Amino acid sequence: MLIDTHCHLCDRRFDKDRQQVFDRAHHVGVRAFVEIAYAPGIWERAFALAAEHPDLFLAVGVHPSESGKVPLEALDPLRDHSRHARVVAIGEIGMDFYRDYASREDQERWFHAQVALANEVGLPVIIHQRSALEDVLGTLERTPVEAGGVLHCFDEDAAAMRRAEAIGFKLGLGGVLTYGHAALDEAIAAAPEHMLVLETDAPYLEPEPRSLKRNEPSLLPRVIRRLCEIRGWTPQQAVEITGRNARELFRMPVGPGPGGPHEFLAGGPA
Ligand SMILES: [Zn+2]
Repeated sequence: MLIDTHCHLCDRRFDKDRQQVFDRAHHVGVRAFVEIAYAPGIWERAFALAAEHPDLFLAVGVHPSESGKVPLEALDPLRDHSRHARVVAIGEIGMDFYRDYASREDQERWFHAQVALANEVGLPVIIHQRSALEDVLGTLERTPVEAGGVLHCFDEDAAAMRRAEAIGFKLGLGGVLTYGHAALDEAIAAAPEHMLVLETDAPYLEPEPRSLKRNEPSLLPRVIRRLCEIRGWTPQQAVEITGRNARELFRMPVGPGPGGPHEFLAGGPA
């Protein structure tokens, strides 16, 4: 079962053709999506989109780059939202020292509070980190998340993969896997298969050949092709393994069954 574990379909860049984006995703066999509602201004919009699309699940949280703008009192509504039946994770949360949209103090405060919230409500976390690997892994090693989580947009080496494995985390693989990063390829070749899940981060990080200037879930077959080269898998194996991993982590109530036509599995255009 093909699952996009990280997308932003509420993004304005989908306002003109959102339904077609869903249609195209279904057509290549995407059976479930995890929409990342990463700031208070997006929570309500994401719930509204989920009400229209039964295969859209949600992660709710405060992104590190938003953490300077959001008062800690927002934890109360966040806790309420996190108990909604369609919410499968707290995310995306973490630290980002590449951009400096928020101070280290604000980022740490929100990251730690949301790790505690995930443990309180029993949900996994979806981690965003940029130029902050040591801080993020250090925090998660000291404060384990019982339900596990995903290192979203994983672009690290085998040593980081092993640390993620030790804390029970999975690796989110998307467009970056097609960009030819040698250390990442090596890490993914060596990773236990139960760690691998697929994501797009749409509208960001279009997989090669980066021809559309916008990413969307129907482009996942490009990532699958690269994953198959690295792992020596068939596309069917890649879809089955990553789908099973995502369903287990997020405890998604979606069973196996007929999806889209899976044209790309037969080597057709994608
Ligand atoms: Zn994201």
